[in-house]
Parts: sequence; C-alpha cells; structure tokens
Amino acid sequence: MASSWGYSPAPESTDTVDIRDDYGLFIGGRFVEPSGGEYVKTINPATEEVLAAIPVADDDDVDRAVDAAGAAFKKWARLPGAERAKYIFRIARVIQERSRALAVLETMNGGKPIKESRDLDVPLAAAHFFYHAGWADKLEFAFPGRKAEPLGVAAQIIPWNFPLLMLAWKIAPALATGNTVVLKPAETTPLTALAFAAICQEVGLPPGVVNIITGAGATGAALVRHPDVHKIAFTGSTEVGKDIQRAVAGTSKKVTLELGGKAANIVFEDAPLDQAVEGIVNGIFFNQGHVCCAGSRLLVQESIAERLLDKLKRRLATLKMGDPLDKNTDLGAINSREQLSKIKTLVGVGVDEGAELYQAECDLPDRGFWFPPTIFTGVSQSHRIAREEIFGPVLSVLTFRTVEEAVQKANNTTFGLSAGVWTEKGSRILWMADHLKAGVVWANTFNRFDPASPFGGYKESGYGREGGRHGLEGYVNLT
Ligand code: ADP
Repeated sequence: MASSWGYSPAPESTDTVDIRDDYGLFIGGRFVEPSGGEYVKTINPATEEVLAAIPVADDDDVDRAVDAAGAAFKKWARLPGAERAKYIFRIARVIQERSRALAVLETMNGGKPIKESRDLDVPLAAAHFFYHAGWADKLEFAFPGRKAEPLGVAAQIIPWNFPLLMLAWKIAPALATGNTVVLKPAETTPLTALAFAAICQEVGLPPGVVNIITGAGATGAALVRHPDVHKIAFTGSTEVGKDIQRAVAGTSKKVTLELGGKAANIVFEDAPLDQAVEGIVNGIFFNQGHVCCAGSRLLVQESIAERLLDKLKRRLATLKMGDPLDKNTDLGAINSREQLSKIKTLVGVGVDEGAELYQAECDLPDRGFWFPPTIFTGVSQSHRIAREEIFGPVLSVLTFRTVEEAVQKANNTTFGLSAGVWTEKGSRILWMADHLKAGVVWANTFNRFDPASPFGGYKESGYGREGGRHGLEGYVNLT
C-alpha cells in the first residue's frame, strides 16, 4: 500500500535562469542572426509554455559556421596541449559555478526531473570537461609511441534526451585533441547549448573554436554533407545514423555513431530482488525512458518472475510523476508531442499483439506531455515492443529458464548498446559479460556513467566509443 504521508510541493526556483525572448546562432564567437531570418519557438514540454524563439540555420549559416571553425582550427590545433587544457578546465569550472541555473534550464526545456538534471546531467557534463582537460597535454601517453594529429572541423549532432551532457561528450574530447567544432543541438532542446555558447564567450575561448547552430533535420543534414567537415559525431536515431552513413560514403570523413538500443536487464533467481527492483526502475523509468541504453527489456528467471513483478508493481505505485521542477518528482514530462505520440502508437501495438498492459494509477497534469510508467508482461520475442525502441517509460517483460537462454534472448536484437546482469555469482557476471553482445554491461547496477569509461554500441547501435582513452581515438589521426 502506498504511504498515507503525502509530499508537499518542493519546486526548485526558476529565479536563477535568465531566458531571452530570442537567441542568435553562435558563430565565430558571436551571436548572429540567421541568414534566412527564420525562427521557431521552443517550449517547456511540461506546460507547453513558449520559452524563446530559436533561429533556424540554413545552408549559408552552416557554411559560415564551418568556415569559422576552419579558420580557428589553424591556431587551436597548434596551441600546446597545456594551453588548450586551461580553456577546457575553465569551461568545467564555470559549468560547476552555474550548475543550478543550467539544471533548471535543462529541466524547463526538456521536461526531465530536476533531481536528475541537478544530480546527473550537469555534474557529469562538468566531469567530462575536467576529465578531457586532463588529457589535452598527455596525448602521447594515450597513444604511446604514436603521434596524434587532430582531424580539423568536427560536426557534432546531438539528441534531446541529455542535451548538455551529450554536448559535453562531444565537445570535450574534440577540444582536448585540438579539433574545432560546429555543434547542432536537437530542435526541442536548444537552450542549454546556447547557454554553453555564452560560457565559451565568458571563458575567452578563441572565436570559432566552438560554434553552435540551431535548427532541425535539414540543418543537421547540411552540416554532415559540408565538404570542409572532417569528422562527424552523431547521437540519435538509427534511421538518421544510416542516412549519415550514406551521405559520407566515399568521403574521408571520420564518423562515430551512437544510435538506438533495446537493452536487456537480466535478473537471475539468486539476485538481491529489492536491489534489482531499484535497478529495473532506474533502468527504464530514469529520464522517462528517453535513454538509448535504457533497460527496456526485462529478462527475469522464471522461478522468481511472479515475486519480482509483484515487488516491481508495488514500487511503481510509489513513483512520483508530475512537475519536473519539483525536487520530489521521479518521472517528468515526455520531451515532445511527437515523442508522446510515438510511445502511444507502440504501446497500442503491444496491446494489439496480445501482451498484458499494467500501468500504475497516477493523475496526469492537464497540460504538457505525459505518459505513466508502464509494464508489459506476456511479451514474446517476436512482439514489436520486444524488438523496437520505444524511448519512453515502457518495460517489456520476458522470462527465461537457463543462462544460455538468457544470453540467446538478450542478444536476439538488432541493437547492442548495453545490458544489465543481476546475480550474486561473480563468475556468472564475468561469463555473461563475455557472451553479451553489448558495448556496456552493468552488473548489479544500471545506467552508470563515468567520463573515463568508454561508451558505444555494436550492430545497429552504432560504432566508435565516447569517453575514456578509446573516445579520444575518434578525434585523431594516428601516425
Ligand atoms: P530522435 O528520433 O531521437 O529525435 P533524431 O535522430 O531524429 O532522433 O535526432 C537526433 C538529432 O539529429 C537531432 O539534432 C536532429 O535535428 C538531427 N537530425 C535529424 N535528421 C537529420 C539528418 N537527416 N541529418 C543530420 N541530422 C539530423
């Protein structure tokens, strides 16, 4: 039974953020108007309130940004690593100083709970800059006996689920290795990237080293096709990842792609069940399930399935959904109307295919985009909800009897980004890690990130790694 003690509202103040009515494109160290004069409105998905007008970069603007990055490259690449590190350290420190404002802005623009942006997105973004600042003057140790040369202009395109954190994953290694950048945030979540542009000005980063242009798919498509771009780093859907691969085929552009996932979170009968329940909740309901490495398929050993599901359903009843700015909120708003409709469509498919739907009772706010935490049981491997990425708070539950069956089912996917294993046996963890075709395997935990740990996928989850020494490789030519 849910506790009879309610929570009083505990909203985070928005006084720390200063959102302008409209923004410019950040090119050559200055905010400039878009050539075509086109703007779109960005909203708060929890309230549908308009936050600001955002410029749409057209082909001319992409040209200007790539030119600015190209011009800045000559000097930036020649700076001693220790000098580049000073700028990157300064960026990290300012992110820390502004952490509260950045967290509130992230939550207002993206709908994620403030406790996540405050405790995870922003601190990890700062950590990525600190970590990579440390590498800038030590590249000869990252690649012993070889010389690491920067590539040139990096085109970086990021999604809307972790806007500032994905920016950090992209920009920090690029700058540390001596590249310059044109970054395009996702169309629904541009505000923290634009706040970051102001931070670049504030720390005195040489103009053109980082350029930030806003716009939707057409802007991204023009950027990856630009002939003076030498490197493409993309995080987003598998569909767009494939389009990018087609666009760069036959060119010398270096590419890293971090795409979709359909991770298995595997619970064995000897696992500590209460901890596993927390890991399952974290695996699929963290950030409303808008996570490419989300544990969206629960594989549970048949002997404990009923007990685990009972516990999980009880836990679901205690999750708090609502105002993302409230410090007690566990699940915030779905990022956009479009994403909400994708989730609803796939959930409808799950019901039509005969899986059993369970949703915790919760009052959804009248305005904004919301979807309750959802569990499907009776799911079989052929169901679309077991194969396709839903990118929402929807868990598909399958069962298994043997270790071999668990591995076979976990690997039976076109993706291969992450997996989770819950068991007390260390030897089984190691055996599973060996046999699971996933870039990251978490043991008795889920959704843990660290700048020193490489992240990336197999198969349709993309290629290349981000983070750690491996992540630097995508930004250098080794001779
Ligand atoms: P999602 O389905 O998660 O929204 P997308 O792959 O559509 O993911 O979007 C991720 C990022 O890719 C966004 O910044 C988006 O604007 C950009 N994008 C969309 N289409 C293209 C394209 N054809 N080429 C390059 N970037 C694109």
